[in-house]
Amino acid sequence: MGDTPTKRGRRGQSRGRSKCARVGCPRTAAAGREYCSSVCHFVVNLYPAVENVCRATGSDPVAVEAWASLVTLNDALTDFLKADNRVYRAALDRWGMTPDQLAELRRA
Ligand SMILES: [Zn+2]
Repeated sequence: MGDTPTKRGRRGQSRGRSKCARVGCPRTAAAGREYCSSVCHFVVNLYPAVENVCRATGSDPVAVEAWASLVTLNDALTDFLKADNRVYRAALDRWGMTPDQLAELRRA
């Protein structure tokens, strides 16, 4: 009792959702989750791994290159998710689609 799922919540965030823990991510995480997606979780977990290699090797150029690439990957992921949010808004506001129609279109 008391559990009333709102399947078609509009833009407002559902209760229990919070900002994704990856810094800069424009998305929210589902209730009880830290990240919006497994890709954010994956990228965040790479940071300590790459940092450890940098430290252990005295910042060998190869390790530093991996670090720089990781930062680029992180920024690119943020840019993609922001652009994807704009696609979602355009689909609803300008293309006359419902969230379900967009989800169907995105299904690979
Ligand atoms: Zn995220």
